[in-house]
Amino acid sequence: MTTHLWFDPTLCLIGGEWRPAVSGQTLPLVDPSDGSEICHIARGAAADIDAAVQAARAALDGEWGQMPAFERGRLLTRLGQLVLDKVDELAAIEATDVGKPLTQARADAVALARYCEFYGGAADKIHGQTIPYLDGYTVYALREPHGVTGHIVPWNYPMQIIGRSLGAALAMGNAAVLKPAEEACLTALAFADLAVQAGLPAGALNVVPGIGAEAGAALSAHPGIHHISFTGSVATGALVQQAAGKNVVPVTLELGGKSPQLVFDDADLDAALPFLVNAGIQNAGQTCSASSRILVQRGVYETVKSRMAEAYGALSVGPARDDLRVGPLISNRQKEIVTGFLKKGADLNVAGQGVIVDNAPETGAYVRPTLFADVPADHTLAREEIFGPVQVLIPFDTEEEAVRIANSTDYGLVASIWSRDGARQMRLAKQLQAGQVFINNYGAGGGVELPFGGVGKSGHGREKGFEALYGFSQLKTVAAYHG
Ligand code: NAD
Repeated sequence: MTTHLWFDPTLCLIGGEWRPAVSGQTLPLVDPSDGSEICHIARGAAADIDAAVQAARAALDGEWGQMPAFERGRLLTRLGQLVLDKVDELAAIEATDVGKPLTQARADAVALARYCEFYGGAADKIHGQTIPYLDGYTVYALREPHGVTGHIVPWNYPMQIIGRSLGAALAMGNAAVLKPAEEACLTALAFADLAVQAGLPAGALNVVPGIGAEAGAALSAHPGIHHISFTGSVATGALVQQAAGKNVVPVTLELGGKSPQLVFDDADLDAALPFLVNAGIQNAGQTCSASSRILVQRGVYETVKSRMAEAYGALSVGPARDDLRVGPLISNRQKEIVTGFLKKGADLNVAGQGVIVDNAPETGAYVRPTLFADVPADHTLAREEIFGPVQVLIPFDTEEEAVRIANSTDYGLVASIWSRDGARQMRLAKQLQAGQVFINNYGAGGGVELPFGGVGKSGHGREKGFEALYGFSQLKTVAAYHG
């Protein structure tokens, strides 16, 4: 796919200037639809991260640190408009870089604009508290930015994750250093260019692409960072938290999931079916909140199984530009990981599979979406995050059994309940271990307004909504004695 880049992808943005990595080195970016090289990006490392942190510090000590909240909000709103003006170009870039079908990439670009609008509007609406106290005192609590915030972002939804994390951090007046993923970082650079165009003061946003173990590790361990937001795998999240712990720096971790949908005998199956399948195959299953486990009560199990199998049969997989339901995985390495899981399912029943279209290049990272049926709840495929278009169907008899299975993995990101029974909906919403529970839907359309995050190995801390503004700030209590 031809992609128009209006910025130089080989540079980092540091202190308002575009510059190459100190080492002068670059890394190739690959289009997962056909394995071809798109361009090179900077291979930022410790020296670039250090310069970026210093630039962020200088921004806080200068114009950015003094800017009133409503002006920060106005800048973010302007940035949101610039994103909207470039929606089609951003979608084309993301489709090439991530292998995401164009319609899904466009939805991500629109979401990025929404985050800028939401946090632009919210920037001057966080007011702190006044606290009634002893006679003779006036006490209030100020909400202040942390200072320099670090943002480590994965490749699966670059625009959405940049929007939710940077939108909130900048709205609260932090100065940010962003380390996008080495597999897909073009929209991060595009966003940074638009931020400069919107008038964001130099150093308020710095972007250093590079390898995780180099630039990412340097950012996590930098003593000049005051808060880290990490989205990615459990193993890397633990490393980031360890590194930040040495500097006593708070960390928000948005990690993986094995999110269940619980389908009861009284569910509206016509309403549920599209969500059951789509939540598993969207972005080729490379979604932290993908629903990879479908728990179905026996009375409707065979019906759900055959209808989902039919839906899988109609799924076509192909290049992002063809805009089919499913694109390639991010890389051939990810394809190997997913194929490895499919082999671990050799003892299971395959209920349905999608097809790879004939014109999909052999050099692309394609796998067939696969639905496994009658899967024991303790099987590897029912417990581990696969991060590919693979779902398992697990039958259950009672509500108690469904909750026990749903809560039996290490994760707890999202869950959904499909039932017409209001009392059951309320009971289960409390019993399910997850950061978000959906009733008779899945994902609620993404919702920038809705606090998001996990329990257990899905992570801690919340992004999105107003909650993120509290996470990207700290309270200072002021107690004045005046007699
Ligand atoms: P990853 O952990 O390998 O990489 C994520 C980011 O961390 C990348 O920018 C990478 O460069 C960086 N990184 C790698 N090693 C590092 C290190 N030692 N120190 C600091 N940074 C380092 O994850 P991935 O493979 O890119 O993404 C897939 C995983 O992310 C899945 O497990 C998925 O569930 C999870 N994820 C979670 C969410 C969420 O919101 N909860 C969203 C997207 C992805």
